[in-house]
Amino acid sequence: MKILIAGRRWAAIIAGITVAGAAAGTAAALQTDTASAGSMPVVVIDAGHGGIDAGVYGVNTAVKESDINLVIAKKLRGRFVNAGFECVMTRTTNGGLYGNTSKGFKMRDMQQRRRTIEESGADMVISIHQNTCPLPSRRGSHVFYEEGSSSSRELANDIQYRLNALNGGDNAALTGDYYILKCSNAPSVIVECGFLSNAEDEALLCDEQYISDLSYAIFSGCISYLS
Ligand SMILES: [Zn+2]
Repeated sequence: MKILIAGRRWAAIIAGITVAGAAAGTAAALQTDTASAGSMPVVVIDAGHGGIDAGVYGVNTAVKESDINLVIAKKLRGRFVNAGFECVMTRTTNGGLYGNTSKGFKMRDMQQRRRTIEESGADMVISIHQNTCPLPSRRGSHVFYEEGSSSSRELANDIQYRLNALNGGDNAALTGDYYILKCSNAPSVIVECGFLSNAEDEALLCDEQYISDLSYAIFSGCISYLS
């Protein structure tokens, strides 16, 4: 409900931002109505895991999901900030958000993410993760949303569309029962960018140009949604 009102409020502002084709990744493809800065939506970008919680590991390089999530989150933040959005990160370092590593650290970590989302007055929440699967051939991007949230579903579909265009997939956005999707009434999604259990995906997720293209695809999906 909120987003319908918000959508009207932002429509004219977002109309000042044009995005090129889904695979385009250059800053030149972006034009921003900077005069509107300050009245733009608040976007929370959540880099999943961190600290002793590395998430999943790359099949060949053992790269940590938590580190890749942060690289993508920072790149995505740059795109939103350049476009005049207010952007809040749940974490900006490789460390976790749990304080000490005693029992219950994972819940403390997630509760800190919730606090950041609540205090930011988020208009949109994007959580960045990487996937894993026992089947090594499984690859591609999946966007998750909370069942019953139509605004989250629309946002997820718009991002999934752009990611499919980027990596040639035909995946549909999926529902998922995840804590981070329940932290706000704002449209909230988890973007599982790729599978670290797949060698090709792992190589792409360690590639600077692909990270740039990937962040642009996610950003473009968000702009499509807001438009
Ligand atoms: Zn994860």
